[in-house]
Amino acid sequence: MSEPHESRPMLDVTALRKVYQGSGRTVEAIGNLSFSLSKGEFACIVGPSGAGKTTLLKCLAGLLEPTSGEVLLNGSRVTEPPEGMAVVFQEYGRSLFPWMSVAANVELPLKQRGTGRAERRAIVDEALGAVGLGDAGDAYPWQLSGGMQQRVAIARAVAYQPQVLLMDEPFAAVDAQTRAELEDLVRSLWQRLGVTTLFVTHDIDEAVYLGGRVIVLSSSPTFVLDDITVDLPNERDQIATRSSPRFADLRAQVYEGIQQAKANAKPARTAADAR
Ligand code: ADP
Ligand code: MG
Repeated sequence: MSEPHESRPMLDVTALRKVYQGSGRTVEAIGNLSFSLSKGEFACIVGPSGAGKTTLLKCLAGLLEPTSGEVLLNGSRVTEPPEGMAVVFQEYGRSLFPWMSVAANVELPLKQRGTGRAERRAIVDEALGAVGLGDAGDAYPWQLSGGMQQRVAIARAVAYQPQVLLMDEPFAAVDAQTRAELEDLVRSLWQRLGVTTLFVTHDIDEAVYLGGRVIVLSSSPTFVLDDITVDLPNERDQIATRSSPRFADLRAQVYEGIQQAKANAKPARTAADAR
C-alpha cells in the first residue's frame, strides 16, 4: 500500500493456476502463469488452441475462480467481475441482446452503473460514432452484419470507459477485410483512450500488428513461453507495416515460440539457457 501509485501495474497476474474438475475428469488448463501490464499498455496473447486463453481471460474478468495464484487490478484482488473491466468475446451474436436496439445494448452497462440519462445518451452517441455506427442506434443487432455487430460490442465496451479492456479472439469470425478494419479501429480507440488492453488471438500477424508486446503461451498446462516487445512505430498501416522487414522478424519470433509450444517444449528462457 506504501508503493507509489505510478509503479503499480494496472494488471498483475501471479502464479495463476486453473484446474477444471468434474465428472471424474481433471484438466489442468493453466499451469503457472505470471505477467503484468502497465497502465496504457496494449499486449496480445497468442497460444495454441486449448492453451487456456479463454480460461485466463475469465479468471482476469472475475468470472472464474483460479485454483491458486492471484489477479490484481490496480492493486486490488479480483474476486468478482470488477467495475473497471470490460470484455469483448468472439461470439458477438450471443453477446448482444436481440430484443434491444443497438443504442440500448451499448447503454445497458451504463444504466447498471447508475449513470444519469442525459450523460448516458451522450456517451452512447459518442461510442457509436467512434466505431462508425452513428446512424445505427435504432437498429436491432440481427439487422446488422457480423462485423457491425462486433463494432456494437466494441462500442459497448468503450462506452463503459474501462481501465482494462479484455478481448478474446474478437475477430475470428469476420471476413478478412472487416477484420483489418476492426484491427485499425481497436488501435485508434486504444491510442485515443489509452485504455490498458489485453487481446487474445491465435493469429500471429494480428498479434504483431496490433500491440506493443506479444505474450506467447505454451500448450496446457500453460505458462508464459516468451514475451516479445513489438518495437514497430506507433503509426501502423495494414500494407506498409505488414510488409516491413521488422514485422517479418517479429512474426518469425512469435512463430518459433508457437512451434515450441506445439512441440510441448520447455520454456524458451530457462536459467540454464541464460548462460
Ligand atoms: P483456449 O481458449 O486457449 O482455446 P480454453 O481456455 O478454452 O483454451 O481451454 C483450455 C483447456 O481447458 C482445454 O483443454 C479445455 O477443454 C478445458 N476447459 C475449458 N473450459 C472447461 C470447463 N468448463 N470444464 C472443463 N474443462 C474445460
Ligand atoms: Mg478460447
